[in-house]
Amino acid sequence: MCGIVGYIGYREAYPILIKGLYRLEYRGYDSAGIALPNRQNELNVYKVKGRVSDLDEFCKNKDVSGTIGIAHTRWATHGEPSNNNAHPHYSQSETLALIHNGIIENYATLKEQLIRNGYTFQSSTDTEVLVQLIEYMKILNKTDLCTAVQMALNQVVGAYAIAVVEENNPDLIIAARKSSPLVLGIGEKETFVASDASPIIEYTNRVIYLEDEDIAVIKRNAPVKFVTIGNVEKTHEIIKLEMSLSQLEKGGYPHFMLKEIFEQPRTLRDCMRGRVNVDCNNVILSGILDNRERFFNARRILILACGTSWHAGLVGEYLFEELCRIPVEVEYSSEFRYRHPVIFPDDIVITISQSGETADTLAAIDLVRKAGAFVYGLCNVVGSSIPRNTDSGSYTHVGPEIGVASTKAFTAQLMVLSMMALCIGREKKTIPEPRFIELLQELNSIPDKVEQILKTNDKIKELSNIFTYAHNFIYLGRGYSYPVALEGALKLKEISYIHAEGYPAAEMKHGPIALIDNEMPVVAIATNNGTYEKVISNIQEIKARNGRVIAVVSQDDTTVKNIADYVIEIPSTEECFDPILAIIPLQLLSYHIAVNKKRNVDMPRNLAKSVTVE
Ligand code: GLU
Repeated sequence: MCGIVGYIGYREAYPILIKGLYRLEYRGYDSAGIALPNRQNELNVYKVKGRVSDLDEFCKNKDVSGTIGIAHTRWATHGEPSNNNAHPHYSQSETLALIHNGIIENYATLKEQLIRNGYTFQSSTDTEVLVQLIEYMKILNKTDLCTAVQMALNQVVGAYAIAVVEENNPDLIIAARKSSPLVLGIGEKETFVASDASPIIEYTNRVIYLEDEDIAVIKRNAPVKFVTIGNVEKTHEIIKLEMSLSQLEKGGYPHFMLKEIFEQPRTLRDCMRGRVNVDCNNVILSGILDNRERFFNARRILILACGTSWHAGLVGEYLFEELCRIPVEVEYSSEFRYRHPVIFPDDIVITISQSGETADTLAAIDLVRKAGAFVYGLCNVVGSSIPRNTDSGSYTHVGPEIGVASTKAFTAQLMVLSMMALCIGREKKTIPEPRFIELLQELNSIPDKVEQILKTNDKIKELSNIFTYAHNFIYLGRGYSYPVALEGALKLKEISYIHAEGYPAAEMKHGPIALIDNEMPVVAIATNNGTYEKVISNIQEIKARNGRVIAVVSQDDTTVKNIADYVIEIPSTEECFDPILAIIPLQLLSYHIAVNKKRNVDMPRNLAKSVTVE
């Protein structure tokens, strides 16, 4: 993971880099650092364990002058978070400094070779090997920085987005990428480089996304040049981004997560805009309609995702099987890619990822494309790697999601999957027309219903006070609500660090019911749909063992209200759209519990937003 930002131009680099790091901090936050080649031809590197604010504090009274620099906020993969392991890393002679996002898989072999050639190491990271190797190549071959980077990258196995600067050359940044994201911002007499556009957008909306094995030669007052690590010159088109700065601010909320939870009525509307038309009874997803033959003749649908997106994928399984009658398998990308899976050329593979940069999902895409399957990417970040590596797809259009625990991206993923199921089901005629119209009308009302649920925030906050000090939680659901139980438990784990498990309600009696006592809160999703009666029996089983039940119920419910200890009401909807509503109170519940426990809600420990390493 990690966040990378670099600047070269006519302004002082330091404030731009620090601000950029704050915007990228969601990607990693265990240490931070900065390298500034200054006007006296020195190359200053400052780095500390801790947050960007610690780095900023550390740099007070230091020489931070210069109009060029690179900076990094780290999410450690190799070597503990510490001052030494923080990036940038110097080369042996301290004439080069490098930042890196990714993993150098063959770092141990390279390190041994470098040690044999007299190099010593200051850190236990994989990254330091890279900067030493670049220096070694430069000296050995008496060559310039770009060629040395090329030579070094040709020896590297793994994933990287890097930026390098050198002493005595305050006019040059070399950047390169493979399997980790990197974007350039092209301003007037200034150029930015970053892991995503968030540090750039304040200055320019003209960007270039680097492709795998690209090297960018970023020189002061000159157009950026591109060359591959195989030394082929390239050109890139400038893309205009439509992201605004206000989308990156908290807008009066104490945390991004709360802001993003409350944005959901709007983001769901944005997600449907131009796609759902209730007046014409139509749902238009060009990614599907332009490829209708592939979808109608699909032998099966494979859904590949990780984390919260995998939970969305499980809901997708229920939707596609019910409404389109296509068999579906949902897989963790990280498992799928390493287990010799059987892939048919007439498979449709749907990949789900908020960032569009999830390393395991990208690798799984490679695998299924080689087998000839059609890949449909569902992601949020426009222009990211997944949409650039898939045959077709849909964006969720929720704007930047900054809170590390995903909320609005999840509900929009469910919305896109619902629209996809309706679109395919109607064309395949597995949904009769009157039923299609009913479902479409209901889908259209979902954002209003989410808005209604958000009005119960105060009540959920009160409820959170009762359960803040529980050590464990169980979340139960059946059918469409089972993935919601998993996602509810994940939200709680991620931000409050309370152990929580999601289970299909009926599975309780096959083991986990042994955990139930009066100390164990059980959150049961018991909306008035499908398996309602069965879930009531499961709740009775918990109550019979003194468990404390918080039930998410439909507004018109009477039965569960009499059994459960606490209830949270949500509006009734079609069973297949229930997850979009039922998850909202669970997001709020985990948010308030985490705030009560004084957790760092937006940047929980050990986590990072997009998992761009394996
Ligand atoms: N592997 C590098 C480190 O541990 C970079 C980590 C990352 O990109 O997350 O420092």
